[in-house]
Amino acid sequence: MDKQTEFVLRAIEERDVRFVRLWFTDVLGFLKSVAIAPAELEGAFSEGIGFDGSAIEGFARVYESDMVARPDPSTFQILPWRDANPATARMFCDITMPDGSPSYADPRYVLKRALQRAADLGFTFYTHPEVEFFLFNDPLDPDRPPIPVDQSGYFDHTPQSTGSDFRRRAITMLEQMGISVEFSHHEGGPGQQEIDLRYADALSTADNLMTFRVVVKEVALSQNIHASFMPKPFTEHPGSGMHTHVSLFEGDNNAFYDASAEYHLSKIARHFIAGLLRHASEITAVTNQWVNSYKRLAGGGEAPNYICWGRNNRSALVRVPMYKPNKGASARVELRSLDSACNPYLAFALTLAAGLAGIEGEYPLPEGAEDDVWSLTERERQALGIEPLPRNLDEAIRAMENSELVADTLGEHVFDFFLRNKRAEFEEYRRQVTPIELQRLLPVL
Ligand code: GLU
Ligand code: MG
Ligand code: MG
Repeated sequence: MDKQTEFVLRAIEERDVRFVRLWFTDVLGFLKSVAIAPAELEGAFSEGIGFDGSAIEGFARVYESDMVARPDPSTFQILPWRDANPATARMFCDITMPDGSPSYADPRYVLKRALQRAADLGFTFYTHPEVEFFLFNDPLDPDRPPIPVDQSGYFDHTPQSTGSDFRRRAITMLEQMGISVEFSHHEGGPGQQEIDLRYADALSTADNLMTFRVVVKEVALSQNIHASFMPKPFTEHPGSGMHTHVSLFEGDNNAFYDASAEYHLSKIARHFIAGLLRHASEITAVTNQWVNSYKRLAGGGEAPNYICWGRNNRSALVRVPMYKPNKGASARVELRSLDSACNPYLAFALTLAAGLAGIEGEYPLPEGAEDDVWSLTERERQALGIEPLPRNLDEAIRAMENSELVADTLGEHVFDFFLRNKRAEFEEYRRQVTPIELQRLLPVL
């Protein structure tokens, strides 16, 4: 038995843990959980826990449905929102087939494979997400716009507000679970919050984001409010993005940093950005996976809708933030398309794959956009070679369908399932008669 497994078994006794939840994620990014008694744990470590994969979104066809969840002992944490005596703990799982081979449907495995490719090239991939979400008053009524908990705006400080109380509680819980938070503040929309996780290797960050979503929802419920990661709940207010800062390390060195280069951007960073740009359209169906995601990317609200990069340019898809001199280790690029409702495992795997393709193919970096691309005319943008991101889920699906990079990175099973699922979502949406059509057309036609 290895040290981590021993540690878990000891912690279970010492902390009086009676329930151990095994967590994993379906292809669309929803968390799945099965609770086992501590007595089952040794067996779970050695053989895993069997379940019916065909009942999990995107996992298996019925004729090959047996799957096995194997807990990763390095992810053991006590859940701070449950009672302490007895306590409840959780571990993330890797999913395997009954013969022990990794499941091709497990998003965590998709990311692990992408990270292994980076490791083969000598790189570790770090991510730092800025997660935005809304807080609404309960109860939610899907037939009416939700009611935000406040009317504050960007960075507003409101004494004794629901939002600041909420952030304090949520951050305390995240820290109790070993998840460091770097910043938090009120965002631009009413009731909108942002919490930024400290950078970590991408697998930890993806796991942390899954935990984050649970913590945020649990804390909201404890305050009788509702938290939502829906990308664009209001037409007239900004949506919730998950801008993600990324970097590659070679050992202890930040491979994006070159003290002598223009903007301190190393060759590797330039190729990586070029990869993000060239493959941006292909990966958008995954970084922005809902019909609703494209309402956020429709222009304005500081969400990107054109494929370009810039220094400190908040209208660009990829921004290269300034960092303090002597802070080479913090060199990074910010990809601003992701939203808070993506599957972080798949979105990080594709972000990395796009960047690595740029490095391996030595893609040249196009000229940076220093203007506000929203204020340019269509013709000016065309002259600069700036293309739009997919304008809706249908365009994004079409760009993904032809992508070798996405097919290779997700693997055939996830690729096919994802496309099928998203086509169905778009087709259902396409048939809907919406309120705006009735408002505009009924009076005149
Ligand atoms: N809410 C904006 C978005 O959807 C981002 C605002 C910001 O710059 O943090 O991307
Ligand atoms: Mg923000
Ligand atoms: Mg940002």
